[in-house]
Amino acid sequence: MADFRSDTVTQPSAAMRQAMHDAALGDDVFNDDPTTLELQRYAAELLGFEAALFAPSGTQTNLIAMMSHCQRGDEAIVGQQWHTYKWEGGGMAVLGSIVPQPLELQSDGTLALSDIASAIKPDDPHFARTRLIVIENTIGGKVLPLSYMRDVAHLAKEKGLKCHIDGARLMNAAVALAPDHQLSPRQMARELCQGYDSLSLCLSKGLGCPVGSLLLGSAEFIARATRIRKMLGGGMRQTGVLTAAGLYALKHNIERLAEDHANARALADGLTQLASQLPALQSLTVIAPQTNIVFTDISPALAERLLPYLAQHGVKVTASRYQATQGTLMRLRWVCHLDINRVDINNTLLLIQKFAGS
Ligand SMILES: *Cc1c(COP(=O)(O)O)cnc(C)c1O
Repeated sequence: MADFRSDTVTQPSAAMRQAMHDAALGDDVFNDDPTTLELQRYAAELLGFEAALFAPSGTQTNLIAMMSHCQRGDEAIVGQQWHTYKWEGGGMAVLGSIVPQPLELQSDGTLALSDIASAIKPDDPHFARTRLIVIENTIGGKVLPLSYMRDVAHLAKEKGLKCHIDGARLMNAAVALAPDHQLSPRQMARELCQGYDSLSLCLSKGLGCPVGSLLLGSAEFIARATRIRKMLGGGMRQTGVLTAAGLYALKHNIERLAEDHANARALADGLTQLASQLPALQSLTVIAPQTNIVFTDISPALAERLLPYLAQHGVKVTASRYQATQGTLMRLRWVCHLDINRVDINNTLLLIQKFAGS
């Protein structure tokens, strides 16, 4: 019925498939796939960078970025919960010989500027050379504000460091922040990138492509990145079939992310209401979403009944057990995306209501 596991589960729409079908193709390792060149140009202009590079995954664009900024033995400052640190198999250390310096996150998803500043190592042979600050926006569905993004970029410049945005869901952040700044989501996305040396952007999440991520930066950086992409096995041939989807997504699927955010809010509001009304859902707490991701906590006892019930009725979520101050809880993650509409939200709420009433 509804697959909330991730915004990666989206299927290319009919119009996107048509664009893929119709794409002009070349050989991208020879740098002559016209559709890929067009996507890279389009994205670079959209986000205010000199150049861009298409790669098979966001894990790879992040790794390419870190390897392009850092030499063997250099250090990158990351968050404990950053994708680059925790969810990429340790690739920066394994493949890049880069030393991660993880920092605890604040409750708003930021790294405290003072924590970043004090993690930067002095030039001393005892220490790895601090070279790079990585920032993730959005992080767990939370939006890092423009002022914070600027502060980190300034700190990096001041300390002579490079800075990279893992912006797998940067467009969600841009769509969420745009109204407050009276900018369009596109202008907002560009503002968020200003002062950064590189950005990794996923096409295969909320933007709805089947495959692919983009890495953006200076022309000189992208030239180095292209060699590393080749080294990592990410040089591909008739990529136009994939990058046509990327072009379609950047042209048609940015502004509509606001619908996913509205659906996430509707789901969160509905669940909050059910929890307040139905004793069976007493242990359910809902964390108000800032973008397209809703987290809910439930007791293990409720999880034991609710999770199989949802699965049985075709509602897919991810769940993980964690230790909260009040004891063990199950945290459910509900991700809204292009293939979930308001009817799916309403049906899911009705289903949970039925579960709690029975
Ligand atoms: C999804 C994601 C990535 C990259 O994921 P791939 O599955 O490798 O494309 C990178 N960073 C963040 C924050 C992500 O959410």
